[in-house]
Amino acid sequence: MAKPITITNVRTILTAPEVTPLVVVKIETSEPGLYGLGCATFTQRYLAVATAIDKYLKDFLIGKDVANIEDIWQTSFVQSSWRNDAVLSNSVSGIDMALWDIKGKVAGMPVYDLLGGKARAGAAVYRHADGKSLSEVEENVRKYMEQGLLYIRCQWGGYGGRIDQIKAPENAPEGAYFDPHGYARNTVKLFDHIRNAVGDDIELLHDVHERLAPIEAVRLSKNLEPYRLFFLEDALSPEAVDWFAVMRQQSATPIAMGELFTHPQEWLPLIQNRLIDFIRCHISTIGGITPAKKLAHLCEAFGIRTAWHGPGDVSPVGHAANLHIDLSSYNFGVQEWWGPSDLIKEVFPGTPELRGGY
Ligand code: MG
Repeated sequence: MAKPITITNVRTILTAPEVTPLVVVKIETSEPGLYGLGCATFTQRYLAVATAIDKYLKDFLIGKDVANIEDIWQTSFVQSSWRNDAVLSNSVSGIDMALWDIKGKVAGMPVYDLLGGKARAGAAVYRHADGKSLSEVEENVRKYMEQGLLYIRCQWGGYGGRIDQIKAPENAPEGAYFDPHGYARNTVKLFDHIRNAVGDDIELLHDVHERLAPIEAVRLSKNLEPYRLFFLEDALSPEAVDWFAVMRQQSATPIAMGELFTHPQEWLPLIQNRLIDFIRCHISTIGGITPAKKLAHLCEAFGIRTAWHGPGDVSPVGHAANLHIDLSSYNFGVQEWWGPSDLIKEVFPGTPELRGGY
């Protein structure tokens, strides 16, 4: 029997080619020149993730057989006794993705082949069109359509709620205030405008960013129904998920949820009760490729599609992991795509490429 290839070093690499901090894990092995990379990006707590890996997981992992991804995932996840928090999950994700990378290199196969092979030739992506006015949003939607995009997320005024004339008490601190009713009204106006302007042959999406009271989110979902969204994202906060049952009874607008989830009990009830249409976890925040592939399989059994979180606070290594899961998943829905800059591509050679809408 061939001698096992073992982990000889684990390095955390912190980088911010633009403003967003990214965390990449590099696993080195007993095989000269053989290493793997994984994404552990928890932008808001990147130093905590680096500490968790360098001070707690590294010594635990050195000497382990790189072949045993499942066992390494499970033992790393319970090593701190308490689990299912974002720092731990991102740390384990960095290790998990790096081990899949190594396994692919050892096998001489892309990871999507190890996950079951291609279920499609490319992953359709969506990009974000926003603007300060309806015409500006429309202009940006048309720009993406000309580039071949088939799915476009529309937001009026960035996150949508910034309206100048908001009532506030005397001595209220300066800042950006949110008007939930104005936002909800404007969002319906936005989709009325865009759907009428660009027609039915384009998929439109919207992200609420959990900014409405639950009953207002239900009403928005109903009011958007005539515009046939591909999905309405994060209409409710993770603390308000019981309201999805109400939303489901009131409206046929497809629901996407999950980018803030860290714990299986957050998504399990929504899946088994068929209360959402798309699962869109941040893959490093649920622990990497190993749990994400299991989650995709679980969703497949319930007719729920995937739409993994793909903003700028996922490193290109994490985007590549998203795409390997996308290509190999029968129930792939769509992939969020941030549009890497030249600077990002220079720091991360091999960053996936957008061609047409894929
Ligand atoms: Mg979102």
